[in-house]
Amino acid sequence: MNHPGTGSNWLQVSGLVLAALAAGVFTGQYFLFLFLLAAAMLGWHLRQLKRLKDHLRSGKPLPNRNGSGPWQEVYGQIRNLQTGNRKRKRRLSRFVKRFREAVTALPDAVVILGREKDIEWCNPATSSLLALHWPECADKRITTLFKDPVLIEYLQTGQYSKPLRLISPAEKSRVLSIRLTPFGKKKRQYLLMARDITRIYHLDQARRDFVANVSHELRTPLTVISGFLETLSDAEEDCPDLALSRGLMQQQAQRMTDIISDLLVLSRLEMDERTDMKDPVPVPGLLVTIIKEADALTRSSGHVIELDADEKLWLLGNSHELHSAFSNLIFNAIQHTPNRSEVRISWKADGSGARFCVSDTGEGIAARHIPRLTERFYRVDKGRSRSSGGTGLGLAIVKHIINHHDAELKIESEPGRGSTFCCHFPAARTSPPVAIPQEPVARE
Ligand code: ADP
Repeated sequence: MNHPGTGSNWLQVSGLVLAALAAGVFTGQYFLFLFLLAAAMLGWHLRQLKRLKDHLRSGKPLPNRNGSGPWQEVYGQIRNLQTGNRKRKRRLSRFVKRFREAVTALPDAVVILGREKDIEWCNPATSSLLALHWPECADKRITTLFKDPVLIEYLQTGQYSKPLRLISPAEKSRVLSIRLTPFGKKKRQYLLMARDITRIYHLDQARRDFVANVSHELRTPLTVISGFLETLSDAEEDCPDLALSRGLMQQQAQRMTDIISDLLVLSRLEMDERTDMKDPVPVPGLLVTIIKEADALTRSSGHVIELDADEKLWLLGNSHELHSAFSNLIFNAIQHTPNRSEVRISWKADGSGARFCVSDTGEGIAARHIPRLTERFYRVDKGRSRSSGGTGLGLAIVKHIINHHDAELKIESEPGRGSTFCCHFPAARTSPPVAIPQEPVARE
């Protein structure tokens, strides 16, 4: 592309060459004059180059009028670049300033950590929530500034998919939700955010206590009512109408008992937030036990249960909870499948851990219901669930237990074709069979 001035530069150079040639014609010394011209031009360009270098080195913007000949254009282009850069820099620093002001005003604590989890920057809220004071904590490793072993372990593990809930290191009455998010190139920097969830925590606690207390309080009167209903059976001979009403009352009392017992199980699961239960659990043996328990149901319904379990695959967790989760899924499959159908249970290792699956060929579930199945009392068909004795709490219990075991519940289903409920456990939760010490049996 030709820039303005390029033509006149060529004219100037041509004029000078012609003048040198003319001088050569007069003196007969062509090469001398051409050489002198070339040397003078080279010298002049080198001087211009040096001036430009000095200007650039000084870091100052180039003066408006500078350079002559072709250098005028070079100066002009550099000036344009400098002006553009200055504008971009101003825009960027305005943005950074506003961003900092916004993060500074946040009520949540924000800490930016480097590769070694050293503190690069933090906002003022870190002082009241995490007891980290800026700039005193600058460049210090965050793990050396906390005493809580749970928090230190969370920061070191590299497992940041779930937030951590803990008491504020700055004020014992505050409850925080802490989350570490890797960011930047190769995700080697970290953003730590701590949120004050004291109010939500207490509300949640009050809700849990309320459900647990109500369930507990209802259990005693219900046991009394059930007891009286039992004794009423003696009077049925004198009053035949009583048999029907007593049967219905007993059925409803049983339903309430089941709901209360499931609510209490849920409360216990919610209150016990330990995810560190790591007893070796012989899953294949546990599944055989559950199938035996289901025998009473399947004997009359004719369901066929197929078990395909890896005998050498155990889990690290809580045997009682796992029994409850697996049996809920197996009993659901039996309940939602026509008599004499097949229910398949599998327990296998996969590339990233272990998988427990229950597949049935029953009624199936429409896709829109699947995300809500683990909500309390959510049923696809309310009437059917109630008549089959379902409490609507089974899958909510399963979800809690699965969370306690760092596992994931996956549901695949097609209406009219059946469903598959799978629990995927991470590799860290699997184990080969181990010898479990037997409890000593007391001798008579
Ligand atoms: P319920 O006590 O009613 O079985 P759950 O929480 O165990 O409560 O299940 C919630 C709902 O999910 C059930 O009411 C039912 O509609 C649906 N469901 C669960 N398992 C299956 C299954 N294997 N096939 C079809 N529907 C199912």
